Amino acid sequence: MRIEDIQSRMNTRWLARSGICLECVDSTNLYAGRIAEQAEHGTLIVAEEQTCGKGRRGRSWETEKRVNVMMTLLLRPEIRKERASQLTLLMAMAVVRGIRDLTGLAAKIKWPNDIVVNEKKVCGILTEMIMKTDDSYDVMIGTGINVNQMEFSEELIHAGSLKTELGKDISREELIARILDVFEELYEVFTETEDLSGLYEEYNEVCVNVGCQVRVLEPGNEYVGTAHGINKIGELVVQKETGETVCVYAGEVSVRGLYGYV
Ligand code: ATP
Repeated sequence: MRIEDIQSRMNTRWLARSGICLECVDSTNLYAGRIAEQAEHGTLIVAEEQTCGKGRRGRSWETEKRVNVMMTLLLRPEIRKERASQLTLLMAMAVVRGIRDLTGLAAKIKWPNDIVVNEKKVCGILTEMIMKTDDSYDVMIGTGINVNQMEFSEELIHAGSLKTELGKDISREELIARILDVFEELYEVFTETEDLSGLYEEYNEVCVNVGCQVRVLEPGNEYVGTAHGINKIGELVVQKETGETVCVYAGEVSVRGLYGYV
């Protein structure tokens, strides 16, 4: 894959106007962290192979080389740092729209940041932050998408790819370009208010958990309730079986359907 083949397909004004495609890397987020000092806001890092991809809580992201998308966007947002974790939700929305536009597949978000197609996880997103001074920081939004991979290891029982669901190959360059176009648009809406006021309704329309029963897995605390969707700061509003309503912050929390992954 060549960075020029992505850039020639996209219409962004500033996002990913500078970027690099690597043959093999430990992880695109780690690489982004290493070049953060010199790199400009909006730099795109793409890799053909990733040997040490990470999910949340240090779990690993497994991906075959040359068939999938592994990418990181390096951003230097001028928004309060407490708000930056919401950028993960923007990327989830951008991936959903990108997949839908390009393939017609009914991609959905499993809160906060997994993308599922036919209840199979096709994408994971990991946002990390490096503080530089008290109010300036870099954000790395790492996104792994299973695009043309056909087989997964036995442990990944919930995994699928766009190709397993669509039955044909998908252009990775085209997919990345669409996602970046949408991300730039969403980013501009987000930075106006520094929250999801202008976006949470669209998020909830494509969020697979809305109206469904969920099991909330917090470290040392597990409960069941009905998810009502996210609020303006990206928390999942859940009504517990006791009737009490709680706002679940993504941090260390996972959500499962009662009978499966979603
Ligand atoms: P959850 O909310 O379901 O706990 P998560 O968003 O916390 O998920 P991450 O930790 O970001 O998930 O991603 C790592 C997890 O994703 C791994 O534990 C593994 O189960 C799963 N996984 C790893 N590689 C892939 C892949 N290529 N496709 C789908 N799932 C994968």
